[in-house]
Amino acid sequence: MTKIFFLGECMVELRELDDATMGQSFAGDVYNSAVYMKRCYPKLAVAMITAIGRDRLSEKMLSRFNSEDLDTQFVFQHPSKVSGMYFIETDSAGERRFTYWRNDSAAKKVVQFLNDDVVEQLTSADMLFFSGIPLAIIEQDSRVAFWQKLEHLKLAGVKLVFDPNYRAQLWANKADAIEQFNKAFQISDIALPGIEDLNVLYGISSAAEAIDFFQQYQLEELVIKDGPKSVVTLTGTDLQSHKIIPVTNVVDTTSAGDAFNGVYLGARLSGRTVSEAVQLGAKAAGTVIQHPGAIAPLAAFKQAMSE
Ligand code: ADP
Repeated sequence: MTKIFFLGECMVELRELDDATMGQSFAGDVYNSAVYMKRCYPKLAVAMITAIGRDRLSEKMLSRFNSEDLDTQFVFQHPSKVSGMYFIETDSAGERRFTYWRNDSAAKKVVQFLNDDVVEQLTSADMLFFSGIPLAIIEQDSRVAFWQKLEHLKLAGVKLVFDPNYRAQLWANKADAIEQFNKAFQISDIALPGIEDLNVLYGISSAAEAIDFFQQYQLEELVIKDGPKSVVTLTGTDLQSHKIIPVTNVVDTTSAGDAFNGVYLGARLSGRTVSEAVQLGAKAAGTVIQHPGAIAPLAAFKQAMSE
C-alpha cells in the first residue's frame, strides 16, 4: 500500500456563530491536505505526524483524524502541552482575521518524539509532505535534528514534498524563513509553491520568474500555483501551463492550496499524469473555496468531485 506522511500542526478552530456561541472544528495546512487526499484516494495510506495534548480537545482532534481515516500511529500525545488554537473572524470590510494561541502548542515539540526508532519506521513511507508552517513552529534547538532526520528519510528513498506556506507572524524575521525554506527546497524532490508566498519572501511575481528561481535546485517536480490565473508545472524538461476555470462564487479561500496539494499528490501517486493531477487538484480547490472554513462538508465535497 502506498503510504504518505503529513508532518505539521493541526489546530482547534473557533468561529463565532452568534454572540453567545462558537462553532468549533479542526484545521491546519498539512492536516487539510491529508484529509482531501484521503477523501479522494481512500486506497492510499495517509498518516499524520504531529504532537497534540492529552486534553479533551486534543482527544477530540485525534478522534477527528480517525474519522477522516487518517493513520494516527505517529500522532504523539505530549504529557503537559495542549494543541494550538485559533479564532477566525471576518471584519466589517470582509477581511478574514486570525487570532492564534499556538506559541506553546504541543506540535512545536514534535521533533523530540521522532527518535531513531520512529525515524526508522518512517522510512517505510513513499512520501513525506511538510510545509513552511512546521518549519516555523518547531523549536530552534530542534532544527539541526529535524534536517538530519529528513536527510535520513531521503536517503532511505522517501520522496520529500514541500509547500513554502509563509506566515510572517510565526517567524522572527524574513531572513530566518528564507534560510529554512532554502534548505527545504534543497532537500525536497517535489515543491508546490504559491506565487503569493514566493512574492513576499523572494520578490517573485510570476510563474516564469519562479521557474528561473528554482533552476538552482534539483526538483523532480515543480508545481507553481497562481490562484485562479494558472498552474505551471515543470517535470524534468517538460514545462506546462495549465488553465484554471475561475470560480465565481468564492466564499472562503482558506485551504485552497492545501486541497490542491492533497489531491494533486494523491492523483500522482495513483498514476495520473501531471496534467490530470492539476485538473483534479484544481477541482478540489475550486470546490473547497465555495464553502466556509478549511474543511468542506464531506457529502458536498464528494458530490462535487464526482461530477
Ligand atoms: P495557495 O493557497 O497555496 O497560495 P493559490 O491561492 O494559488 O494557492 O490557490 C491554490 C489553488 O486553488 C489554485 O491553484 C487554483 O487551482 C485554486 N483556486 C484559487 N483561487 C481560485 C479561484 N478564484 N477560482 C478557481 N480556482 C481557484
